Amino acid sequence: MTASPAASCLFCRIVKGEIPAGRIRESGDSLAIADIAPQAPHHYLLIPKRHATDIGEFMKGPRAAAEMADLLNLGLELALTEHLQERGYRLVVNTGQEGGQTVPHLHIHLLAGREMGWPPG
Ligand code: 5GP
Ligand code: ZN
Repeated sequence: MTASPAASCLFCRIVKGEIPAGRIRESGDSLAIADIAPQAPHHYLLIPKRHATDIGEFMKGPRAAAEMADLLNLGLELALTEHLQERGYRLVVNTGQEGGQTVPHLHIHLLAGREMGWPPG
């Protein structure tokens, strides 16, 4: 039997509770955790519970639109709870090698608490 990608995927294992993480907020389809190496005073990862390597693969799922709305709502609820809208925040989806993606399970970065530069590095 071939192991599913989820069995060895870091974020799938965090979703299942097999690897500890700073779980901040959760919904039926999504989980928000604190990034282990924060790049800003607030740095969260919004993670869909369903495994998909990247946003392109994720959006092929039959419930993808609802799951993506759930993922964004979780981030917006978190931003509101932390009052991040007052000074602003940034949502980032790194995709593929040149996009800077290092964990091959779709996630959205929610960054706030400092002035963000543009263009990104
Ligand atoms: P990417 O580079 O794929 O856009 O983002 C991956 C993010 O996952 C990085 O910001 C990295 O710090 C974070 N990360 C990697 N391993 C872990 C972990 O074990 N726990 C948590 N909470 N974050 C992680
Ligand atoms: Zn996964």
